[in-house]
Amino acid sequence: MTRQPAEPLQLDYLIRAGAIHSMTGETYRSVGLRGPEIVAVSATPDGLDDLAGGGTVAVDAGDLTLLPSFADSHEHLMEASRNTLLVPVDRATSVAEFTGMVAAAARDAAPGAWVLTSMAWHESNLAENRRGGHFAIASTAALTAAGIGPGTPDPPGGKIGHLPGGSLDGTLEGGVVYRVAAFAPGSARGQLVEGLARSSAAYAALGVGTIREAMINTDELLAYQDAAEQHKLSVRVRPMIRVGNELTGDQAIALIDGLGARSGFGDDWLRIWGLKFVMDGGVEGGALEQPYANDPANSGHLNWDPAVMTRVCVDAVSRGWRIGTHAAGDRAVRVLLDVYEAVAGQVGPLPPGTLVIEHALLSDPAQRGRAVEGGFGVTVQHCLLWNMGSEMVTTWGPERTRQVNPVDEWLALGASLAAGTDIVRPFNPMTNVWGMATRGTKAAGVQGQEHAISVATALELYTMGTARLNGEADRLGSITPGKLADLTAYPADPLTADPDDLAGLTPAFTIVGGQAMYDPDGLLAS
Ligand SMILES: [Zn+2]
Repeated sequence: MTRQPAEPLQLDYLIRAGAIHSMTGETYRSVGLRGPEIVAVSATPDGLDDLAGGGTVAVDAGDLTLLPSFADSHEHLMEASRNTLLVPVDRATSVAEFTGMVAAAARDAAPGAWVLTSMAWHESNLAENRRGGHFAIASTAALTAAGIGPGTPDPPGGKIGHLPGGSLDGTLEGGVVYRVAAFAPGSARGQLVEGLARSSAAYAALGVGTIREAMINTDELLAYQDAAEQHKLSVRVRPMIRVGNELTGDQAIALIDGLGARSGFGDDWLRIWGLKFVMDGGVEGGALEQPYANDPANSGHLNWDPAVMTRVCVDAVSRGWRIGTHAAGDRAVRVLLDVYEAVAGQVGPLPPGTLVIEHALLSDPAQRGRAVEGGFGVTVQHCLLWNMGSEMVTTWGPERTRQVNPVDEWLALGASLAAGTDIVRPFNPMTNVWGMATRGTKAAGVQGQEHAISVATALELYTMGTARLNGEADRLGSITPGKLADLTAYPADPLTADPDDLAGLTPAFTIVGGQAMYDPDGLLAS
């Protein structure tokens, strides 16, 4: 099949490849790009030759397979970028190394200056680069600056740690982390822009074309706007603005009403997705229906009072906002469904995907049915199981770990899913695809093989799935004339390769918006 526009045109790029998978069911052999868009495709390698002219870059890549660039439905690009500006404790392999890095940074800092560490670490295994985003440790000076003393009560959904004698031990859990961090000076906006430039290029180098940014504040939105205007983003960004649970309901409504925009504002490079709420913790702190396997007195915590959150969400969706809410444990998912159903009940029918459940690591069949019935979107991140499977086995037990993110069961119910990472550093999407297709993990073996899906389905959730979630299925997510030219080339065909060969597969080049964002071998050079 050859599809050409009515008017003659000259392509900027004519790419002939071994296979070009549209991800909507077609396979082509050549694709033509002009400006930021895909303008023509052909089932034959020479089918678009008439559209080439003197200014056309012809790329003969018969050994490569083209896919739509990956669209990550849940990743923290800003946090990953900021981490590159902070003390890189995520690189420490021991407590001694970790504290040595902090001490060295404190020595170099001006007296009274804050020392902030990267959040891409986890205390239980420093070498493995897990995230500590729901926990923090603050010095006495930092706690004092934030007005937190030994007698300060725990905020709802948060915990201020104490030593046996009653004095503060410096540990913070839940929303109170942000309350203290708010007193630290932010990175200068110019630094954030440079961090975004570097980090977004690293994601593009792994085949990513779009990131739904899972949590920023309004200052960080300004940094994104600067980066986009200065053409420093190598990936498209769809940000979610944080509505923190440290706020009262009235404060949260005031924040939302003061934003002065709504979901969808922006352009093809930077478009606001919506608002972000956090209902519970993660592997430690997720709200569970049954107690923790390693702590029978504990079943996690909820950050929001459901009635308060319902009131805030009704205000938000009435003003045109989409909402994504972090809910890791099955109790958090159930309570979030209560909230979302109440919101829909009060506001009336909402467009599908207005309300989204982020993660739903644990869920039961009834909850999955309610989510599908309500038209609520769900983002799934196999690589959380990949990365933290061992911790899940310890904290949740082996049976619950095998049931994490049962993508097959969600799909069987007709759920609207989008795949992503939530790993807070550049991560190879093909490792995630391999994981979805095998249920393999980094250090916990295969977990719940019965929930494996096909490579083709995994790729679809990671391209069209996210495009649908973002309300851009007509503009992104497949290799189709009229859509944006976001394509990634691989030296093997993922649809025919052995899934076990995919985990380490990396791109030969990545094009976003018709621009070569990653091209180490100069294949796209004129
Ligand atoms: Zn997240």
